[in-house]
Amino acid sequence: MVIAKAWVLKKHFDGFPKTSDFDLKKIELPDLKHGGERKLLLESLFLSVDPYMRPYSQRYMKEGDVMIGTQVARILESKNPAFAVGAFVVGHNGWRTHFISDGKDLQLLPSNWPESLPKSLALGTVGMPGLTAYFGLLEVCKMKPGETVLVNAAAGAVGSVVGQLAKIGGCKVVGCAGSDDKVAYLKKIGFDEAFNYKTVKSLDEALRKASPDGYDCFFDNVGGEFSSVAINQMKKYGRIAVCGAISQYNDSVPQKGPYVQMPMIFKELQMEGFIVTRWSSRREEGLQALLKWVVEGKVKCHEQVTEGFENMPMAFMGMLKGENLGKAVVKV
Ligand code: NDP
Repeated sequence: MVIAKAWVLKKHFDGFPKTSDFDLKKIELPDLKHGGERKLLLESLFLSVDPYMRPYSQRYMKEGDVMIGTQVARILESKNPAFAVGAFVVGHNGWRTHFISDGKDLQLLPSNWPESLPKSLALGTVGMPGLTAYFGLLEVCKMKPGETVLVNAAAGAVGSVVGQLAKIGGCKVVGCAGSDDKVAYLKKIGFDEAFNYKTVKSLDEALRKASPDGYDCFFDNVGGEFSSVAINQMKKYGRIAVCGAISQYNDSVPQKGPYVQMPMIFKELQMEGFIVTRWSSRREEGLQALLKWVVEGKVKCHEQVTEGFENMPMAFMGMLKGENLGKAVVKV
């Protein structure tokens, strides 16, 4: 018999999450030997901590639910012919060390995944965040060679891929992040211009200096004040992909900012929100493109690995505070 550990949402977050909002539970899993037709027993190796968990918990979870999330897991026992013991999958089974699945929501890692490539990347660059960058840029920003792309939270899981894909696509890339080390990293991975949004005297000036002609595409991960300033520096017919609004996720009282209509009208902008699952039917296409670029060294990956399942809340809160460079993951 396996006893799984799981983190539950003890109390809905009020403002920034606190350690006391989480509870570590032990859950006894049923033995697959008795019944359990087509069932699998899996162990999580790496778990993802993502910004969406904060607003999602508010909308879709109730207190006592296991925290939502994805993992790279190994199959320990299988009564399902589609999944062999020892295979690695991406699961959507929440913050759990072990779980039982019927396989319906599991995705095997691509069969051409190189042995030398960390499997945790299936939660980052070659996973959901990478796909977000890929489809957001191609389908929402509709970037074209020679254009200028702006991305914020640029040193994170999504942003770092956005910048590198925009370079591959022949664009000039401007990124901003919340520390000088992150800015140095952005320059190292090929961003044309990068700045620390926390230390510049004027965001408006920093954006203007980085691209005096303005921006064709804005991949917005942050929302709030940054977006209100950036929208005024879009070029005519510019496209804004509204991917995330992390600067607003922990607000108890919604922020009020300038309204978007005037710049949208006079610059004839397009602004579109999106959720990456819109392109689920093209997941394989996106993953193969990302995997190829990573293997060829054209897209560099960095991971912020926190050791220990007991540190999941700390890793989650750290990511929300900006402690991560690249994708924040937890190694069980
Ligand atoms: P990151 O790896 O970028 O981690 C979050 C980062 O956000 C932090 O490292 C921090 O970096 C930055 N940040 C935190 N608070 C603020 C703030 N107040 N202002 C500006 N930046 C802040 O996370 P992801 O790459 O996973 O996600 C990035 C964004 O994309 C999020 O908004 C997320 O919700 C969204 N997203 C949307 C998806 C979709 O389908 N629409 C799918 C996946 C992600 P720094 O040090 O630079 O401040």
